[in-house]
Amino acid sequence: MNMELTCDDKHSKLNSTRVAKVLHPSSEGEVIAAIQEAAAADQAVSICGARHAMGGQQFGEDTVLLDLSSLTGLQKVDLENGRVEAGAGLMWPELIDSLLAQQVGQERVWSIRQKQTGADDLTLGGSLAANIHGRGLQMRPMIDDVEAFTLIDGSGCRHRCSREENEELFCLVIGGYGCFGVITSVQLRLTPRRKLERLVEITTIERVVPALEDRMAKGCLYGDFQFSIDESSSDFLKLGVLSSYRPVEPSREMPKERIDLGTADWEELIHLAHHDRAKVFQVYSDFYLSSHQSLYWSDTHQLSVYLEDYHAKVDHDCGARVPASEMITELYVPREHLAGFMDKAAKLLRSGSVPVIYGTVRLIEQDEESFLAWARQGFACIIFNLHTEHDEAGIERSSEVFRALIDLALEFGGSYYLTYHRWARKDQVEKAHPRFREFLERKEHYDSTGRFQSEWWRHHRDLLK
Ligand SMILES: Cc1cc2nc3c(=O)[nH]c(=O)nc-3n(C[C@H](O)[C@H](O)[C@H](O)COP(=O)(O)OP(=O)(O)OC[C@H]3O[C@@H](n4cnc5c(N)ncnc54)[C@H](O)[C@@H]3O)c2cc1C
Repeated sequence: MNMELTCDDKHSKLNSTRVAKVLHPSSEGEVIAAIQEAAAADQAVSICGARHAMGGQQFGEDTVLLDLSSLTGLQKVDLENGRVEAGAGLMWPELIDSLLAQQVGQERVWSIRQKQTGADDLTLGGSLAANIHGRGLQMRPMIDDVEAFTLIDGSGCRHRCSREENEELFCLVIGGYGCFGVITSVQLRLTPRRKLERLVEITTIERVVPALEDRMAKGCLYGDFQFSIDESSSDFLKLGVLSSYRPVEPSREMPKERIDLGTADWEELIHLAHHDRAKVFQVYSDFYLSSHQSLYWSDTHQLSVYLEDYHAKVDHDCGARVPASEMITELYVPREHLAGFMDKAAKLLRSGSVPVIYGTVRLIEQDEESFLAWARQGFACIIFNLHTEHDEAGIERSSEVFRALIDLALEFGGSYYLTYHRWARKDQVEKAHPRFREFLERKEHYDSTGRFQSEWWRHHRDLLK
């Protein structure tokens, strides 16, 4: 059996899909040729970057899978306007390193605005397709960081998309999960690289929004709140570490070594999160408090350690009956309802048998541009990583909890992120993403031969029929 043809996502490993063929185009010409060849053979095409989405968005049974991670070119930075054209397969660490290398000796150095937290080796194409966000304060999702991109459609034609050219495609493709074609390159809006001071305090969930709003008013650019995951404590989802990042004078000297959690620290934290959820918060908050007032760069402070295949070790250490992994979910609620939502979520999660392994709260500003916008208003974003056992009962337990959390977010006028699973009920999809049906219609319009297919798209097409 050709193992390369059985694909799965990197984090949850719950989306095993057998594709017909895997191709690794390394130029726009090769992407066009691959699509034209698939069209001539009437084969459907699926698209992947670094394979981190968890709802089967990258793979379709029997499709030709285009793995775009070799499209890694980077043009020269436009030093006047802070723009750069980058290959869709480029990942964040390489992008940041290359930007810095190009600008050695410049007084003003341009770099990225935001990226995901918790994982770095994610491609630009995958990031656009999910319209991602990071821990920016007063930031919109990634569409706001994009000036233009190039898209190859189902017949191999090339389209430049921006707010001025092919505007509807621009809004559909960003946050469109590969349904409209292959993004080959992206023109990013950059921001001047700044020195930031990390400010840390331990606080409670009621204080999170006012405290972050206060930090924003004082000029902080980034921030988040990592909460206690100890379900046996009254602090569960209530007490947490609030970190924010304030620009400081450029003349401040940067430390030689960044104070940060390394691989061994993360291994310990992951072990504790599975075995001693009271202690993990103590260790984590002690570390963060010890880094209060440390200096970081605005781009590299967004990088973090991701332990590949860490769950195999967790399973081994606890003698797991069946393999497991963490499934992520992200819920959104209007900011004034954050504490109310978390209170009810704590009751729900305490009564279930699915442990929370990690959780954080961030803020997002309204996205008025993307078609399938998840940030329909300025929301508080709540992320839960839930331990999920890979047997029928374990998957059912997690999916039930995820659906209950979505119901709770909807009760407060919120929503959920489409990237992490496809376990939502039809009524939940329709309520949280009111333009989904219209989105599917626009896909049919732009991709009338159904060239681009994934398990995620097939699922939603059938669900909303
Ligand atoms: C540990 C972890 C932490 C995360 N943290 C965050 C976070 O902080 N914020 C956040 O917003 N998200 C976060 N995510 C989700 C992540 O940002 C998305 O899953 C993102 O799409 C992953 O990029 P990728 O390169 O792995 O893409 P893939 O998973 O390979 O693909 C994702 C989607 O993008 C499409 N796609 C990929 N490349 C292209 C292309 N060139 N052209 C057209 N379509 C393409 C695919 O078809 C698919 O629909 C996290 C995920 C994990 C596992």
